Amino acid sequence: MENSPEQSLSLNKFNILLEQAWIIDSSYPLSAIIWLPDWYKILNIAEQYLNILFEKYNYKRHIFPFLVSSKEFDHINDNICSFEKGIYKVTESIILRPSWESAIYPMFRKWIKTYNDLPLKVFQIWSIFRRWSTRGFMRSNENDFFIEAHAAFSSREEVERELSSCNDMVNDFMKWLAIPTLKTIRPPWTNKPVAETEYAFDVFLPTKETALLNVTYTQMQIFSKIFNITFTNKNWIKDFTYQIEFGFSQRCILISIWLLSNENNLFMLPIYSPIQIVIFQIDSPIIELNEYVDKIANILKWSNIRIEVDKKSWQLYKRFGKYEKLWVPIRFEIWKKELDSEIIKIVRQDNKKALFISLNNIIPEIDKLFLEISSEALMNNEKNLIENTIYCTKTEDIKNLINSGKIAKIHLCFSEDCVKNIEKNVRSWEIVWFEYINKNWGDLGKCVNCQKPTSEIAYYSRRI
Ligand SMILES: [Zn+2]
Repeated sequence: MENSPEQSLSLNKFNILLEQAWIIDSSYPLSAIIWLPDWYKILNIAEQYLNILFEKYNYKRHIFPFLVSSKEFDHINDNICSFEKGIYKVTESIILRPSWESAIYPMFRKWIKTYNDLPLKVFQIWSIFRRWSTRGFMRSNENDFFIEAHAAFSSREEVERELSSCNDMVNDFMKWLAIPTLKTIRPPWTNKPVAETEYAFDVFLPTKETALLNVTYTQMQIFSKIFNITFTNKNWIKDFTYQIEFGFSQRCILISIWLLSNENNLFMLPIYSPIQIVIFQIDSPIIELNEYVDKIANILKWSNIRIEVDKKSWQLYKRFGKYEKLWVPIRFEIWKKELDSEIIKIVRQDNKKALFISLNNIIPEIDKLFLEISSEALMNNEKNLIENTIYCTKTEDIKNLINSGKIAKIHLCFSEDCVKNIEKNVRSWEIVWFEYINKNWGDLGKCVNCQKPTSEIAYYSRRI
């Protein structure tokens, strides 16, 4: 077995490509990303998509303040986990929010009185602040496009039903980004007392590491008890609300681009690209050709396709090169010889394949092409995830697999002894590890350590 992962687009190199393309600037004196105009456009497009998605599931967008009362925050600090080193203090009584519970739940406490006020479903897209060791856009001090949703219900059953809606929303967005995810349930001993169940979505990165994209927490009454969020139920009995939350960030969008890009070029999906199509007028500008190009441009614009037109007379390779650097995923080449036939030559930037489409049918064909590019990207990424997930039956093989950049998939009974034995093996290599149970998807097999029959699956990999 090989001991070094294959060459791949590293986070540093990817960051350099992003900066060269003037997408982001991470040279700010603190660890935070500057949104340059193209990145702003991409986030705007993603935001529009998310607004529609959240609306579909009845989550209402709010803006809660950055500033949080230390008194409210102490509910988490004292009862859940100590954030002491990870927060920015503004004054003795005010902090910058490291997460949203301490901004949102005091208002839930106020707004919720009876079962008539439930369910209450909110979401927000804004910054959170953490003092932690940073790593490019994967982990910064200010995470400024953080999407978090919180919902309160009057029964445990409603939360259980909501869980599948939450996971469907996350799945939907990840699919929109062409990101295949490894969906897992964290073992119970890692998530107390934050949640009763913690559903995680991980991605396999080009660096052969996995990274967390989203976590859905079924909090049930853990936080409502801490923040004293109560309601009067239908039997006039006072009870604590039942809650759920989930969240993901702008790094999902950057990872989508990362998965599509290579050492030399960045690629993005037309679905979120600021410019989806560039129309090149190839031959010298005669009136008929000029008008024909304008006609095509107008048809596309009327259908809200984001385009640019290039009628310059520079050398062709320079004109093409300019838009390749701007990651425009599709180009039209308009030639004089095709004026009569109204057949348009279209070139995809991801695989350089050319196709010819009649102007008559241009909008449905372009819509189809956008979807095709997205689904091909998802398929390729899925294939990569599957090919790099290796099932193994021996404890000794796990560390070798991880070290060669694979995800080791094992059957594990999750008894204390067996988990300890695996962790001893994995951690001895100083590899950041993760393990999850996967009750719903596992086939019956034998625990890698004790050989007892089990249907539970664990995954181990290098973590970013
Ligand atoms: Zn076992």
